[in-house]
Amino acid sequence: MFIDTHCHIDMSKEIDVNQYIQNAYLANVKGLIFSFCNQDCYRAGIKFLEKYSDVFVSLGFHPEDADIITDKDLECLDEVLVSSSRIVAIGEIGLDYYWRKDNKEKQRDLFQKQLDLAVKYQMPVVIHCRDAIQELYDILSQYKGKVKGVIHCFSGSYEMALRFIELGFVLGIGGVLTFKNSKLYQVVEKIPLSSIVLETDSPYLTPEPHRGETNESKYIPLIAAKIAQIKCIDVSEVAQTTTDNARRVFDLPI
Ligand SMILES: [Zn+2]
Repeated sequence: MFIDTHCHIDMSKEIDVNQYIQNAYLANVKGLIFSFCNQDCYRAGIKFLEKYSDVFVSLGFHPEDADIITDKDLECLDEVLVSSSRIVAIGEIGLDYYWRKDNKEKQRDLFQKQLDLAVKYQMPVVIHCRDAIQELYDILSQYKGKVKGVIHCFSGSYEMALRFIELGFVLGIGGVLTFKNSKLYQVVEKIPLSSIVLETDSPYLTPEPHRGETNESKYIPLIAAKIAQIKCIDVSEVAQTTTDNARRVFDLPI
């Protein structure tokens, strides 16, 4: 079986969630972690867990919302995080200097407050990072040994990958790996399979040959097949090891 460690449902209104989950199961993707990371995440995530029993969620505040997240929001997140064993991570959180460079301090502050929550509750984090990889590394270094998790949609160099692995993180690899112009294969080729988890980031980043369509967790095997091809190993090994990695990082009871 496969695990999709990172997908979104709240952003794509035309999706029928039951159908989405069933499609994933039919494709042998039997573990799903849905990411809720806007201002209403704690409400949306809890409602989602009440409605769907066989899924997991991560909750957190995305750096794009750094201007609007209040201390009250962070208090609500704090209260809700341990309310269900199916809330398995804090995320996606991090730094995004691609869209906004004018509020770096607010982004850093929001990020660090959520890293502190991860330490408090011993929860893994799911990291979003765009155009800020060195600064991200510097912040995470301060939490070495205290916080683990996933560098979601990893897009850095091999050297950077090794440094994050050394900090105790694994890399989230998704549809980008299948894109013709992607250089990500150079990283995937060299890092150990024990440091990779699979993710779709659906409804975005749909893998080839479905690029341009809405992404779904059912496409996880396409990403696994690409990893198998790059590493010259059997896809069953990719399934087994990445599933074990996801279980380990998120402490999943499946
Ligand atoms: Zn995402």
